[in-house]
Amino acid sequence: MRIRLDLIEEEPFRWNETESIAAESLARLEVIGLTEIESSGSLERAHPGYRFQARLQYGQTLACSRCLKPHEVEVESRLDLIVLVQPPEPTSGEIQLEASELGVLAIESDILDTEPILLEQLALNIPMSALCRPDCAGLCPYCGADRNEQPDCCDGQEIDPRWQALNDLKLG
Ligand SMILES: [Zn+2]
Ligand SMILES: [Zn+2]
Repeated sequence: MRIRLDLIEEEPFRWNETESIAAESLARLEVIGLTEIESSGSLERAHPGYRFQARLQYGQTLACSRCLKPHEVEVESRLDLIVLVQPPEPTSGEIQLEASELGVLAIESDILDTEPILLEQLALNIPMSALCRPDCAGLCPYCGADRNEQPDCCDGQEIDPRWQALNDLKLG
């Protein structure tokens, strides 16, 4: 979505729409799929700049960090940004912002493209560790079986025989 900032004066610009983003565009292997993204928000004049507020709702299918099984996670996130239009030339006077915990986005033209903002937010919403369930047992290190389904696989076979030979050598 591209919003012309020069058209926003007294009245905030509001939207409520559904966007499709391909999971591949996030370039993260653990993200297998994305549902359509429900996006609503507003852009209004602020001093300085514009205030961009949005709410996103969607589902992401992630590969479990331990067993690699795909599982879907619902995501809801909010954004609150100040958008400043800054000429590309270096300016002499620094723009002073009042102390605030709001994020600031500087753009060069007065057309705001929301796609990079959306992509960045989607990337932030990918958890560091995505488990299919909190106690996921992961994959068997010997045969690769899913230990959630075969908890006893390879029982007793604690060490690969080749490593065992190495151990015997060290002990010998
Ligand atoms: Zn898992
Ligand atoms: Zn096994």
